Amino acid sequence: MRTSSIIKWQKDGITLKEDEVKRSDSSNSRGEVYIVGIGPGDLEYLSIKAFQIIKDVEVVVGYNTYIDLLDELISDKQKVISTGMTKEIDRVELALKEAQKGKQVAIVSSGDAGVYGMAGLVLETVSKQELDLEVEIIPGITAANAAASTLGAPLMHDYAVISLSDLLTPWEVIVDRLKKAASGDFVVALYNPKSRQRQQQIVEARDIFLQHKEPTTPVGIVRSAKRGSEEMVITDLQHMLEEEINMVTTVIIGNSETFSFTNFMITPRGYEV
Ligand code: SAH
Repeated sequence: MRTSSIIKWQKDGITLKEDEVKRSDSSNSRGEVYIVGIGPGDLEYLSIKAFQIIKDVEVVVGYNTYIDLLDELISDKQKVISTGMTKEIDRVELALKEAQKGKQVAIVSSGDAGVYGMAGLVLETVSKQELDLEVEIIPGITAANAAASTLGAPLMHDYAVISLSDLLTPWEVIVDRLKKAASGDFVVALYNPKSRQRQQQIVEARDIFLQHKEPTTPVGIVRSAKRGSEEMVITDLQHMLEEEINMVTTVIIGNSETFSFTNFMITPRGYEV
């Protein structure tokens, strides 16, 4: 990035020296697009790089809820473009239009932008339209990792991430992947497990797991991981459907070695302890 905020490490934390931030004149320059993962929710889980870019760019584009989460980072000198939840394509078009004017644009995406986020769509559009833009992707903490840290260490061995949303993926494909992950004894993190419109997918997914795993297999359910309203429960395959599961929930199903201890879910790595 041409603008350079200087990060000063101090005994009491990190500060950005605002007077060192040099905003470049964007006229006649090549547009820059930053696809920024903002982490699971609370700003303390945002990377320093993401923080810097969101503060420095000329235009911030995102889904309303995420723009609200970033409110305190965005100044009134910056242009903000926010859209509703299912408007990803519009958001990308608007962002790329700004970048084509030579602007520095950040497109924010929850968790990691490359995990069911905006990174793929932006790059697909840039490549399809053969746009001459600088594009950089800034990683963020994805929901599986945020939820895992709340639960303990459930992802210590091989794991698969599967989204139960069949809006963009045929349900038969999802079922096939669920069966393979279950029969392969992967730990599985389920994204998009349930919404008001999609209530049955999690029931069917649970049935598939029960065909391959013990009913007592530990299951961790985390709602609003790393947000003020975080809630978690450790249950098992047999009982998991008794718990509240919604659109801000990540469900982690253990492998055959996973166990629970007090409030922790643990998948052994294989050490002799
Ligand atoms: N790009 C995002 C995922 C978007 S898909 C990421 O990397 O995290 C949306 C799904 O992510 C939700 O349905 C939910 O399953 C999960 N999710 C997002 N934020 C979450 C949070 N704070 N706590 C628990 N699950 C979350």
